[in-house]
Amino acid sequence: MDTVTPSALPAARHRHLATAVPGPRSQELHRRRAAAVTSAVASLLPVYVAEGGEGTLTDVDGNRFIDLGSGIAVTGVGNPAPAVARGVAAQAAAFTHTCFMITPYEGYVEVCEELAALTPGTHEKRSALVNSGAEAVENAVKVARRATGRQGVVVVEHAFHGRTYLTMTMTAKNMPYRDGFGPFVAEVHRVPASYPFRDGLPGPDAARRATALIESEIGARNVACVVVEPIQGEGGFVVPAPGFLPALAQWCTANGVVFVADEVQTGFCRTGAWFASEHEDVVPDIVVTAKGMAGGMPLGGITGRAELMDAVHPSGLGGTYGGNPVSCAAALGAIATMRERDLAAAARRIEAAVVPRLRALAERVPAIGDVRGRGAMLAAEFVRPGTAGPDAVPDPAFAKAVASACHAEGVVVLTCGTHGNVVRLLPPLVIADDVLDEGLGVLEAAITDTAITDTARSHP
Ligand code: PMP
Repeated sequence: MDTVTPSALPAARHRHLATAVPGPRSQELHRRRAAAVTSAVASLLPVYVAEGGEGTLTDVDGNRFIDLGSGIAVTGVGNPAPAVARGVAAQAAAFTHTCFMITPYEGYVEVCEELAALTPGTHEKRSALVNSGAEAVENAVKVARRATGRQGVVVVEHAFHGRTYLTMTMTAKNMPYRDGFGPFVAEVHRVPASYPFRDGLPGPDAARRATALIESEIGARNVACVVVEPIQGEGGFVVPAPGFLPALAQWCTANGVVFVADEVQTGFCRTGAWFASEHEDVVPDIVVTAKGMAGGMPLGGITGRAELMDAVHPSGLGGTYGGNPVSCAAALGAIATMRERDLAAAARRIEAAVVPRLRALAERVPAIGDVRGRGAMLAAEFVRPGTAGPDAVPDPAFAKAVASACHAEGVVVLTCGTHGNVVRLLPPLVIADDVLDEGLGVLEAAITDTAITDTARSHP
């Protein structure tokens, strides 16, 4: 790897490191936390946050970080977005809760109107609101089972759908999501996904591989729904090969199976369109949403064909807090911000700024096996140099070293992937060009320096 030369860090303008990371106040809070919060809930970067911004987070020690994670694809509109903060304050002053199942309110209806207008397809739609992505996935499965009278749920390799019992069963990765938590829920079946970097299969072939397995091992008539992330999130930011999603959706339609797109991470402008299904003109029967929809307040949605959603008996869906009025006000502020600032276009600009830089780096750093993603959902997969295709050897230590180096230099990046060997970028869609530029400079330096250390380790 003699092609790699050390890169100088860009001079800090937007970052401000007042102390080591984490600083003394964060460390003190961390000690308190250890005595009060279960260690089962972990934090990637234990700096305790005092204030957000449009692409920055400031901690209790006065350290300002460039945020390339958006709280896992949530605060795309800013943290807080002014329209979200205003909506939340006004609604909290009016009333905070009634329970929509007891005495309803307009905000819930308005959010469902927006979901009908924004999700793919011009068909008649109905929605239900819940509290989280996992709860939304659970409800999509309930709708599909009730509407079809079938039980089978088909998911793909590397999927992530949540941490509740059903969604944990639907999630692929053992550690940390499933290990020791069994027995799992019945009637969940996993088939191969499309993973171009590893399988090299054209999309329609990858879809046929999946549907052939469904037909031979499950039986199409036993399947209520196929649930798929249009771009896989926690599983590694895997963009399926073109044609995979349309072929899967067509197979579902031909076989009376409900096609559910889990757009929890990809939805609401993140990938350069309102929904990632749009990139391939796929119209899902049900779209599952959460995360970016409400600018940081907890809210999830299930939006589907009216005949499917209304097949469930009255009171078959719901919950005390689902579609909480404060969360709905936040969602309306977030959606207005996405529209006014054209955040889908902003996501496409982020892709145009980031991808060429990562691809150029991949020319020099052989550990970068793949650079991929869409819009502001972008990643680099790290493998042992010289390995490729199905035999590419994941290098989680490299990804972890890159993430840690970024954190120490004041940039928040996350890792993902079934093997933990992917560094992912989920910047706020409102991030200013120069803030993004500075964050990327730190990432590039972290990757270059990790490659040098790695070479020194492998060839002492
Ligand atoms: N589906 C996908 C695609 C996700 O990325 C996530 C969260 N990472 C979930 C579901 C679960 O969402 P939540 O954490 O809000 O339950």
